[in-house]
Amino acid sequence: MKKKVGTLVRAQGKINLYLNVNGREENGYHTIESVMQSVSLCDRVTVSAARGADEIRVACNLPYVPCDGRNIAYQAARAFLDECGLGAEVHISIDKRIPVAGGMAGGSADAAAVLAGLNRVLGEPLERERLYALAARLGADVPFCLAGGTALCTGRGEVLSPLESRLSLPLLIVPSRESVSTPWAYAELDRAYGNFASPRGEGMRLAALCRALEAGDAKATAENMYNIFEDVILPQRKQAAEAKRLLTAAGALRAMMSGSGPTVFGLFEEVSVRDEAAHILAKRGFRPKKAEISHRKTQNTH
Ligand code: ATP
Repeated sequence: MKKKVGTLVRAQGKINLYLNVNGREENGYHTIESVMQSVSLCDRVTVSAARGADEIRVACNLPYVPCDGRNIAYQAARAFLDECGLGAEVHISIDKRIPVAGGMAGGSADAAAVLAGLNRVLGEPLERERLYALAARLGADVPFCLAGGTALCTGRGEVLSPLESRLSLPLLIVPSRESVSTPWAYAELDRAYGNFASPRGEGMRLAALCRALEAGDAKATAENMYNIFEDVILPQRKQAAEAKRLLTAAGALRAMMSGSGPTVFGLFEEVSVRDEAAHILAKRGFRPKKAEISHRKTQNTH
């Protein structure tokens, strides 16, 4: 067996600055239009591999995250080796910081980190196009997690158009212990929107948001943010609704749920106001996490 080579990848979580569901395919998949934004909060994913024996092992600091074939990081490693026709002993260690099942694409970020990490340590066997096609097969959010930055995501979320953003802002991320399963959240939306039998559009607000990001205009960004899930999920998730209310009262430019929730985030203009909001939420029993969004795309592989 050859020498094992390892790399540490910062698997960045995402928030949705905009999330609209505009239709439903015959096979039941929903089509979306979403502005996804990477955040500084990330899982640390160490990937090491040596060509030879075919074995994948996953370790995680959280005992309730499965480390077998149910882990999407494991599935990413399997798919990568199969795609390349390679045998390798792969070890993946995940230090999770992104809230699990929180609407921040934590699992997808780990999967993207494994694809990027394995491609690096195994000598770049996959070129960009094949890597992104593989990412899309693993999950709709995985291509965005591979790309990072700010992007308009359409289709099921896997069709990316990078967006120019000049916005860097402090952020407060508020996880909650209430659970939301993504299939349940979509079923709730289907009930509220008649199974999306007729297509919907929110085009005006989306165009205004993209312009605001490009101009680095924090206020206009805040005004044009949108998440279709909020109206159906927040009335049923009291902690998340309370977190949103507290963030708004504490001076957030805008507080909104990310993805299908229940994680709520607040965007702030000033670090000091964000820090005071963190203090207020902590006193109410929340465990807010300080983070940033940055217009500079951070290099994720070290
Ligand atoms: P999305 O925003 O893409 O809907 P999410 O952030 O809501 O995703 P995840 O954190 O990706 O949700 O986890 C969803 C489920 O997947 C969890 O119940 C968890 O047990 C399982 N899972 C599999 N692999 C992972 C992983 N690497 N990290 C976290 N959860 C994982």
